[in-house]
Amino acid sequence: MLKRKNQKLKIGFDLDGVLADFTDEFVNRLNASLMEQGRITELVQLPVTDYWFLDNHLDFFEESVKMGIFADCSAYPEAAVYVNKLLSKPEEFEVYFVTARGTETGITWAQKTLNKLRRDTKDWVKGYFPTFNLENLHFCHRKDGVVVDNGIEAFIEDRADTAARLSRVCKSFLLERDWNKNEPSHGSIRIKSLLELDFFMGD
Ligand SMILES: [Mg+2]
Repeated sequence: MLKRKNQKLKIGFDLDGVLADFTDEFVNRLNASLMEQGRITELVQLPVTDYWFLDNHLDFFEESVKMGIFADCSAYPEAAVYVNKLLSKPEEFEVYFVTARGTETGITWAQKTLNKLRRDTKDWVKGYFPTFNLENLHFCHRKDGVVVDNGIEAFIEDRADTAARLSRVCKSFLLERDWNKNEPSHGSIRIKSLLELDFFMGD
């Protein structure tokens, strides 16, 4: 069980792919742009992994950040409800958001773009999670460091390799998404829905 009597559970969430539906927003924008350039003739929904192999996807990604994709993407409805429920019980839960936004390799981020990314992320968090303590929002390349430094006991992630690494320092959950379905979960626990976390709660 994750919770112990009379003790707060420190629980961390990844943003993209767990709380924020970045993929849909990105694919929609990329589609629209490719159509505008005449590279495709009708809007199609390819799996997002197909796009990562486009020669210019990093440029497009950077451009999307400048255009405010992190302010505009939606929260997964289930995630918004679930995490706001945890936030409504501050005596039981301390909630952290830890994201690798702005640290993707392959892009040399301009400070201005990074500032925009962080500002948009904060506004997005305030919009969907009004009672979240913004001091618990962390931007980092290696999430395990933040988990250890803050004593986070459980973490929910959508990248299988990151979830595996986190399993060495906390209870790590891999939230199933299309892009991790065929990946091994290693030391992490695979869940299909955040609601499954309730099975691991209890005190
Ligand atoms: Mg993610």
